[in-house]
Amino acid sequence: MEKIKVGVLGATGAVGQRFVQLLEGHPWFEITALCASERSAGKRYADACRWNLRGDMPASVRDMVLLPCEPGPDCQIVFSALPSETAGEIEEEFAAAGYIVCSNARNHRYDPDVPLLIPEVNPEHLGLIEVQKRARGWHGFITTNPNCSTTHLVSALHPLHVRFGVKKVFVVTMQAVSGAGYPGVSSMDILDNVIPYIGGEEEKIEHKEPHKLLGAFDGSGVRPADLLISAHCNRVATRNGHLEAVSVEFVEKPTLDQLLEAWRDYTPLAQQLRLPSAPQPAIIYDERPDRPQPRLDRMAGSIPGMATVIGRLRPDPLLHYKFMVLGHNTIRGAAGGSLLNAELLVAQGYLGRTHAFLAESVQMA
Ligand code: NAP
Repeated sequence: MEKIKVGVLGATGAVGQRFVQLLEGHPWFEITALCASERSAGKRYADACRWNLRGDMPASVRDMVLLPCEPGPDCQIVFSALPSETAGEIEEEFAAAGYIVCSNARNHRYDPDVPLLIPEVNPEHLGLIEVQKRARGWHGFITTNPNCSTTHLVSALHPLHVRFGVKKVFVVTMQAVSGAGYPGVSSMDILDNVIPYIGGEEEKIEHKEPHKLLGAFDGSGVRPADLLISAHCNRVATRNGHLEAVSVEFVEKPTLDQLLEAWRDYTPLAQQLRLPSAPQPAIIYDERPDRPQPRLDRMAGSIPGMATVIGRLRPDPLLHYKFMVLGHNTIRGAAGGSLLNAELLVAQGYLGRTHAFLAESVQMA
């Protein structure tokens, strides 16, 4: 069966390697292009990339020759794992040249005509694609996924927000070192330590990403959700998996059982469509008193690293309730999030034709 050709921009980096790993054996997509900086272009992937993930580099990519990050590769979708210093312009060049860009970088997340997407949360925001193509005169388009800590926070809040209205959120994040890329934070800085600052992170959570993700699409734009968030973001000495302590106040205070029910009954579109990378269920509630923990639970669920794990729900003396949220930062919080976005685009017909595999893999509920 013919698969959809995809490329990875920034393929040698921390997130780029995750793309390569997650795309290996994907039922719909096959990698036909790997791109990196001028330092790496022209080299074999195996020579230019210091593979940092568990397991071997997939044999299918070892001999691929890295290309520069410029339009030309033979593929329909490009996944962008580029640093924000370069992502903005390069992604625009690809979209203008007709490619579908699924980006991890922050550059276009807040553009009013670019979807910031979590397939479970706001699939209707895909309507922005037509707005974007019209406004910019592009044949292709850009979609983005949120920052890693926002992804899991908003995934946990969404089922609660639609039922009870989230009014105020207080969140303290404990973010893994892999979130800073490779080699990232120096071991001398992070071992035996917590760094109580991650540049730009609190601003993204307090003012930008959750509001757009939970906002309403009105046919021409997204009206941001009206909620107040206070965030403290910390870098801690775990390798993967961001843990977040969350307190929430609602418009209408639910009971504790109603909150649990909202998470347990959560079966959004991505799960109904049975997208290949959609975890079943999207949210796992762990009842054990000392869970979730990053080392033990970041790969929980049917698709390792794609679910959001919640635990320790209890009343909060300041706001209404508090709980813990855990999610993998480079899988669902980065490459896996983009991959699921691309699967949603295919399933919703944004690649312009019905693919044979959709009939087999995707079943509407
Ligand atoms: P990284 O490890 O530093 O990798 C950067 C990649 O971009 C490498 O492949 C590098 O190629 C390439 N590159 C660097 N400069 C370039 C240039 N001028 N032109 C073309 N390619 C260039 O970064 P990362 O941690 O994977 O992050 C990638 C993006 O994802 C960032 O925007 C980041 O904010 C975002 N993100 C990261 C995480 C996470 O958990 N790490 C989570 C969410 C989002 P060479 O090897 O040739 O230098």
